[in-house]
Amino acid sequence: MLNIFKNEGKVKDPVCGMSVDKNKTQFSYINKGKTFYFCSKNCKEIFIGDNKKPRQEKKSGCC
Ligand SMILES: [Zn+2]
Repeated sequence: MLNIFKNEGKVKDPVCGMSVDKNKTQFSYINKGKTFYFCSKNCKEIFIGDNKKPRQEKKSGCC
């Protein structure tokens, strides 16, 4: 009964909010010791760009 979490590999794309399997996605980014996972290269680039400029409200249209 150890496998309680069905969505074990699932994490949330911080850019678009989409569910991403961290074992499958090739788009990850490590910042300050924390790893973020993304559904697409576009989302990753938006996220990295966000660290360099003020956050923007609109982040959709990536997928
Ligand atoms: Zn995304």
